[in-house]
Amino acid sequence: MIEGAEEFSVSDEAKRAHEHEEECLFFVALSRARTYLRLYLARRQPNGMNRSASRFLEWMPPALIDEIARPAMFPLSADAPCPLSVVVTWPADWIVTDSRLTSYEKCPRRFFYTHVLGLGGARKATAFSRTHDCLYALLRWLAEARRSAEPTLAEAEAAFEEIWLERGPVDHAFAGDYRRLASRLVAALIRSGAGRCFSEIEPLAIDLPNGRIYVEPNELAELPDGTVVLRRVRTGYKRSDEYDRLEYTLYKLAAQARFGTAAIVQALHLTDDTAEAVTVSPTKLNNRQTKSDTMLAGIGAGRFPTEVDSVTCPRCPHFFICAAMPEGPLTLL
Ligand code: SF4
Repeated sequence: MIEGAEEFSVSDEAKRAHEHEEECLFFVALSRARTYLRLYLARRQPNGMNRSASRFLEWMPPALIDEIARPAMFPLSADAPCPLSVVVTWPADWIVTDSRLTSYEKCPRRFFYTHVLGLGGARKATAFSRTHDCLYALLRWLAEARRSAEPTLAEAEAAFEEIWLERGPVDHAFAGDYRRLASRLVAALIRSGAGRCFSEIEPLAIDLPNGRIYVEPNELAELPDGTVVLRRVRTGYKRSDEYDRLEYTLYKLAAQARFGTAAIVQALHLTDDTAEAVTVSPTKLNNRQTKSDTMLAGIGAGRFPTEVDSVTCPRCPHFFICAAMPEGPLTLL
């Protein structure tokens, strides 16, 4: 597996590492069955988009596959309890950040459990996710180091090695593959910073009628011609609908509010090794600004309804307590 890996692009190598991880998880999952093993796959997502099956399912004998056109649905009874608002007294230093708002957008109840009640997320870390977590830790190190000088690749690699030894998947069977992939992403990160003058990262405020949102950019830099660039750095791939995500609209609104319309927002995707200017049409910008304001109103009014999704709910760390809510008002300290 390790032999010949240099011939792959960063993107191919990341895909390969991810597939190895999936294959291992698939076999582990199969080996846990004691008497019966049933695998379920939804062909359609709640938003109507088709879902493609994992290629590992092709190994299943066709005689064992049973397709159901549309599973039965049980309607809620008329007297089913409706979600109530929670009266929350927020501490003076509680703020809505861009990441908190996008969490509310995905599922207000999950936002409530994680960010209001402070219940920890029991995310099962894989070697792949631990590698990416190490890269995000390096990003934080770079933000600090760049305040005085632009670190060289060797310095960034040395810093990354420390992070890796402390929290990377060093005991994983494919640790060498993951480490090599990480090195290529570190190199892409350093390359992408060439010729920029980095500034201290500060939260940037967006003021809307129902409150304030703070955007915490991954990078804040100035180009040689003086243009300010806010950059969102992702370690993975760029998705086809990437710039339709709320995060980019919030970056745009924050850039405009703080630096004027000449400031630009860039997206850096390390696995693709692409850095490009983010474009969001004025209509979409306007619609998402309105949506953000509505969400701020929802948070302020203590509205935290569930957003049930057959794909994301089983992976949610609060799956087994959802949809329980504490009774009475809540005072956050
Ligand atoms: S289980 Fe689903 S509905 Fe409940 S908090 Fe998690 S994502 Fe939201």
